[in-house]
Amino acid sequence: MEYFESDVPAGGGRCSDNSCPCPEVSIPRGEGYIYIDQQLVDSRRRYPSLAGARLAMQQTHQNMRAAVGSASMAYRLGPILVCEEGAKLRKLDLRVAAEDAKHWWSTGEVPLRATPIKTAETRIFKGHSIEEAKALAKKEIPEDNIDKIEVIADVKVAEKVNYHKISEKAVQRLKSAIPKEAFDIGSIEVLGEGKEGEADVKLPRAEATPGWLECWFRRYIPDAPAKATFDKVECIIPEKKFLGFVVKQGTWRIFWGVSVCASVTYKMPAEIEVYLKPKG
Ligand SMILES: [Zn+2]
Repeated sequence: MEYFESDVPAGGGRCSDNSCPCPEVSIPRGEGYIYIDQQLVDSRRRYPSLAGARLAMQQTHQNMRAAVGSASMAYRLGPILVCEEGAKLRKLDLRVAAEDAKHWWSTGEVPLRATPIKTAETRIFKGHSIEEAKALAKKEIPEDNIDKIEVIADVKVAEKVNYHKISEKAVQRLKSAIPKEAFDIGSIEVLGEGKEGEADVKLPRAEATPGWLECWFRRYIPDAPAKATFDKVECIIPEKKFLGFVVKQGTWRIFWGVSVCASVTYKMPAEIEVYLKPKG
């Protein structure tokens, strides 16, 4: 298959489908679905490199401006990253759209073909195993109406971690991050012991920027544990100046802490898609 280049965000992504009703849900790296439409394929077939496509778009824009006097045009050089809800609304082939997304996240390349659209009516079933999902489907849909069944995902083991200086907080935040569909949730493990501390330092203004103190905070808390990290800095007493000279140094308070790590493992359900036979 042929591919074209498309920028990948530095961190995670967001659902950027304008016709999806979700509140631009965040999509972690490597996940989500991408929607490639035919128009995009046609334009990127001519300009597979990102630089080339950008240049061509700018050129077209300039030409229009020269001809008409003014021009505004909206264009897209890459596919749309979509959440599960949006992908289902667009009736995308979920397996293909998810595979395309995974490939794009890891390589920055997108297949040069439109995302297949499901024309058949389908239904999604989830279970603690593929067999269980299939059994659920067969309980609800008469066997005669089923055309075929495709496995979207097998059961996945997942892990989540949370760091906080207060272990109750780490546990609480971890608990709220476990997806609703998770099952076989293991017991939460807490590693380490949380600590907090502070140190007051006197510094001339030139050195006492929060960024500088963050960089060098260890210098001022030599007896803090090795795992301590910088938290924040506050100015306690502002410096005194006279005729532009510092006559009395300001005092800054550095807050530091050691975080505990709370972690948990759980499983995410298997997912299958059942294709129904066309009626009539
Ligand atoms: Zn969405």
